[in-house]
Amino acid sequence: MPTLNDIRSTFLNYFEKQGHEVVASSPLVPRNDPTLMFANSGMVQFKNLFTGVEHRDYTRATTAQKCVRAGGKHNDLDNVGYTARHHTFFEMLGNFSFGDYFKEEAIPFAWELITKHFDIPAERLYTTIYHTDDEAFEIWKKVGVPEDRIIRIATSDNFWQMGPTGPCGPCTEIFYDHGDHIWGGPPGSPEEDGDRFIEIWNIVFMQNEQFEDGSMKALDMQSIDTGMGLERIGALLQGSHDNYDTDTMRALIEASADASSSDPDGPGKTHHRVIADHLRSTSFLIADGVMPSNDGRGYVLRRIMRRAMRHAHLLGAQDPMMHKLVPALVRQMGAAYPELGRAQALIEETLRLEETRFKQTLDRGLKLLDDELASLSNEAPLPGAAAFKLYDTYGFPLDLTQDALREKGRSVDTEGFDAAMAEQKAKARAAWSGSGEAADAAVWFDLAEAHGATDFLGYDTETAEGQV
Ligand code: ATP
Ligand code: MG
Ligand code: MG
Ligand code: MG
Repeated sequence: MPTLNDIRSTFLNYFEKQGHEVVASSPLVPRNDPTLMFANSGMVQFKNLFTGVEHRDYTRATTAQKCVRAGGKHNDLDNVGYTARHHTFFEMLGNFSFGDYFKEEAIPFAWELITKHFDIPAERLYTTIYHTDDEAFEIWKKVGVPEDRIIRIATSDNFWQMGPTGPCGPCTEIFYDHGDHIWGGPPGSPEEDGDRFIEIWNIVFMQNEQFEDGSMKALDMQSIDTGMGLERIGALLQGSHDNYDTDTMRALIEASADASSSDPDGPGKTHHRVIADHLRSTSFLIADGVMPSNDGRGYVLRRIMRRAMRHAHLLGAQDPMMHKLVPALVRQMGAAYPELGRAQALIEETLRLEETRFKQTLDRGLKLLDDELASLSNEAPLPGAAAFKLYDTYGFPLDLTQDALREKGRSVDTEGFDAAMAEQKAKARAAWSGSGEAADAAVWFDLAEAHGATDFLGYDTETAEGQV
């Protein structure tokens, strides 16, 4: 059975043989793009090549890109622990054409790789296309996909945009049917969000440019941008529908079970999954220079860490345990990502300190939460003031409180929380009138979180440089 490390190599080797330059993953913190919180897809490091602002000595590239989707436009934090297919950290395998090949080659490349090299049975595969994209329809038919397996979708799921303006175009997605023993329906159906039909690969055809006045014109340079989740293709090649059954995730889940002396598949199963996932995002973020803090990227990191620590606590771990799992991660992924090994001591120390500190208030905060809930009627949401007290006094990020409540089918009065937060900020502002960059960045990320940042907002092509 191929490991995730094997599958990554097969992918990169396949596209290298097709004339692609193998390019290293860019760091999770995008250089020259203050508007994007973390790299969240393979194309991020190539933005300037797609817009034609930058040229390199290759027009085809392939990568395994580190991605974090835990804030901004793509936020999968709330999916972790609940779906079989989402992580906050994952690797996106991609092939890219910068004005080189287009649909006629991109589709056959993908089809050949998954059906011939990965040996995935064609009768398990479905594809979606943008409803007006007859070219893609014809190419899928030509490679051998039956017409009733090519599903036309009219939503933005199959129309990609770099931002409100700029390159855009239709996309096509490949889905795998894991079988009727798992709940879920085909793409485009109301049950799509189940785990039966899982999207494995997304291929974008950049063929238009969107302008501010709403008009769109065909691009002179047509490009390809693709992304396939390593853990998703890995799960299916390892005989499961669940990303958390892959060799790497399983090793981390077992490390979590060992460190907490509990059963990896027992009642604490969900906790182990969340811990394994958050261990990866946390460790990779620290290795790429993010440190826990109270605003911006550092606060996203802190939120992920604390969420994991609450799950560790629920497993009954008396002492800090997250740092004990780092060696297992380095064993799994250190060869592909040497920055992990280089930062190992820093990662362990940061986790240990953060968990030691958070443990001092976690217990009391959870007790307060229970007491509050006990005083409420069954369906009532937790009052904003209580959630704010948990945030302000006990260091519970709002999403951690929500995560805790979701398990009990309860929610938070978020408007009340926002009001309590606004009141405290107003007080603080009255007491202190400075204007620091950190505060500005925090406000930006607050807005981005609230409204869903676009990757492209304010992206300045004049100052961007080569990023590899
Ligand atoms: P989904 O609809 O399942 O959330 P997506 O359409 O948001 O996926 P894309 O933005 O198209 O995902 O990303 C390209 C590929 O990356 C997906 O086809 C999938 O294989 C993988 N992927 C996306 N999000 C995640 C995630 N949170 N965890 C693991 N793999 C992911
Ligand atoms: Mg998604
Ligand atoms: Mg999708
Ligand atoms: Mg997609």
